Amino acid sequence: MERKSFVEALQAVGLRATHPRLHVLRVLHTAAVPLSVDDIVEQSTESLDRVTVYRCLEALAQARLVRQVDLRKNHSLYELFDEHDHHHIVCTSCGVIENFVGCDVAALSESALRRSTLFSNINDHALELFGVCNSCTT
Ligand SMILES: [Zn+2]
Ligand SMILES: [Zn+2]
Ligand SMILES: [Zn+2]
Repeated sequence: MERKSFVEALQAVGLRATHPRLHVLRVLHTAAVPLSVDDIVEQSTESLDRVTVYRCLEALAQARLVRQVDLRKNHSLYELFDEHDHHHIVCTSCGVIENFVGCDVAALSESALRRSTLFSNINDHALELFGVCNSCTT
């Protein structure tokens, strides 16, 4: 997504393309891994305060342009919403993050629903894997 399509993406979900929102989207776009509010403030080329960034992320997450990720750190992480489902493997020793695809959510949902007495449909999922990376093992 380039600048023009960020404007379009915001307009498509009924959000005004404010400067901070565009800026937060751009920082997340260039990041290879999910970022915290502090990461975004730090990596920002313009001065945005934490409250502004946090408010932007809240609005963007509600509009499903940004996804909140829980990687068991003591702060939330955020990344651009990805129409191709992906998840993360996190090193519990150094914190390095690798993406992975192919969680087979369709099969998992089906088997969960077969056993479920309370639900007949699933519309979202969250899954993160944790381990010790190769460089921390050797
Ligand atoms: Zn990710
Ligand atoms: Zn590691
Ligand atoms: Zn998935």
